Amino acid sequence: MSHQPVLSIQNLNVEYTARRGKVKAVRDVSFDVFPGETVAVIGESGCGKTTLALALVRLLPRSAKIAGGKVLFQGGNYSTPIDVLRLNQSQLRAFRWRNCAMVFQSALNALNPVLKVSAQVQETARAHGEHDAKQIEERALWLFQQVRLDPRRVYNAYPHELSGGMRQRVLLALGLLLDPQVVILDEPTTALDVLTQRTIIEVLKRLRDEMGFALIFISHDLSMAAELAHRIVTMYAGKVVEIGQVNEVFYRPKHPYTLGLMRAVPNLSGGRAELVSIQGSPPDLIDPPRGCPFAPRCSYAQPICHEQPPPLEMRATDHASACHFWDRLPVLRESSEASSREVNP
Ligand code: SF4
Repeated sequence: MSHQPVLSIQNLNVEYTARRGKVKAVRDVSFDVFPGETVAVIGESGCGKTTLALALVRLLPRSAKIAGGKVLFQGGNYSTPIDVLRLNQSQLRAFRWRNCAMVFQSALNALNPVLKVSAQVQETARAHGEHDAKQIEERALWLFQQVRLDPRRVYNAYPHELSGGMRQRVLLALGLLLDPQVVILDEPTTALDVLTQRTIIEVLKRLRDEMGFALIFISHDLSMAAELAHRIVTMYAGKVVEIGQVNEVFYRPKHPYTLGLMRAVPNLSGGRAELVSIQGSPPDLIDPPRGCPFAPRCSYAQPICHEQPPPLEMRATDHASACHFWDRLPVLRESSEASSREVNP
């Protein structure tokens, strides 16, 4: 993996304007993503992970505002880093497909129902300056094959003739049409059955390894994250509370929230581990708590937690967390072998 990040998110802050005040949805988020790497961003609904993804490609709704920070991209035609937050509209349009593709949660409805897939492929490519229809068709057919679709049949189909899993894979192929260096997937498999989810994960892994793009995988599904990711970023109340290599984070978590998320995942073996959901709800982000935002829900909390915010600091090699009492957490497993369904304590 290259030592030069393809994307460097630095002190990113995003706010929504609400009637009661500013909702601080993303707070001082920083991390790098390297070429060929998959970073999974995990956390409950409302933790800020989708807002973060939308901010990276500047597709935030009108009520949201980037209140500070940088998103530096280096790759494609850019030999020096560019700040995505400073691109003008035409630079941004090019960036979004050529350099960074995003497949959204609602992707199943993202295809135009009255246009054949072929027309949507050609239109997408044309909108980004690619006018060789034959070449585009060949690339699309090759990508459809890569995502395990019947290329010719799918290319000539209307979206309603395809199943949800097939449409999701069409969108993935569309995202890769212009060979982006970064792909952002926001809950890409949520609406799909388990077998289709498996297929998509396998396809993603293979394409990432063959094509070398970096993947930012936004998910609340820890087993998917464990299978796909090299590193895990845990977000809570708009902040990064833990970041590290996948095995490190899942076997030796250094933040009680990550531990709580893992304890809420069923174990395939159906073993003795009991499922424990995280009690309580996230804090009000209009007026975030003074100390640790997780304190009201945390079984490790001490008085200091309610007073002093814990800084995000390195706790082990390539493993940082924001917790005053990170060293009190159990080691879940000594093995360094990653296994998605064996991460439960
Ligand atoms: Fe829990 Fe305190 Fe750590 Fe926050 S700082 S996660 S409240 S132990």
